[in-house]
Amino acid sequence: MNTDKADLKNAVWQWAEHIGVKVKEIHLRQMQWKWASISMNGRLTLNTELLNLPKTLTEFVIVHELVHLLVPNHGKLFKSFMSAYLPDWEERQNHLRSL
Ligand SMILES: [Zn+2]
Repeated sequence: MNTDKADLKNAVWQWAEHIGVKVKEIHLRQMQWKWASISMNGRLTLNTELLNLPKTLTEFVIVHELVHLLVPNHGKLFKSFMSAYLPDWEERQNHLRSL
């Protein structure tokens, strides 16, 4: 099942609360090379293309971006946070990359 804009934003607020990070703004726009980006002050930009993806993948993208508020890189710590919040994140990432 795909998501609409309100669902997408709600998912962000819920995950932010769950992870314990502060998201200040959520923007949706067309992005050419990536699914999303986040700035350290909590400004999240999501690619409108996410609305065409299944929920498991949008969730992966959201969690990935929010965990960047805890860990700015993709190192060991980042991966262990990902595993804590989404145990099957690698599977989802592979699925996303295969698209
Ligand atoms: Zn990243």
